[in-house]
Amino acid sequence: MPNDTNFKRSSSELGDSADWRCTCCGKLLGRRHGAVVLVQFARGHRYRVSRPASAVCRGCGTLNET
Ligand SMILES: [Zn+2]
Repeated sequence: MPNDTNFKRSSSELGDSADWRCTCCGKLLGRRHGAVVLVQFARGHRYRVSRPASAVCRGCGTLNET
């Protein structure tokens, strides 16, 4: 099935995803997925932004870039 092949391929791409954490305190800011970053907020809002992206840590106020 072609769909199975595509699914496996996209699964391995998800393996490239990595946590995007604050460089100062280590708080999780989002997740990197190749050229995009998925940002999640506590109330369930989610944003997908393309890199380069920057965010201010809500814990310590450090500006992080990815
Ligand atoms: Zn921080």
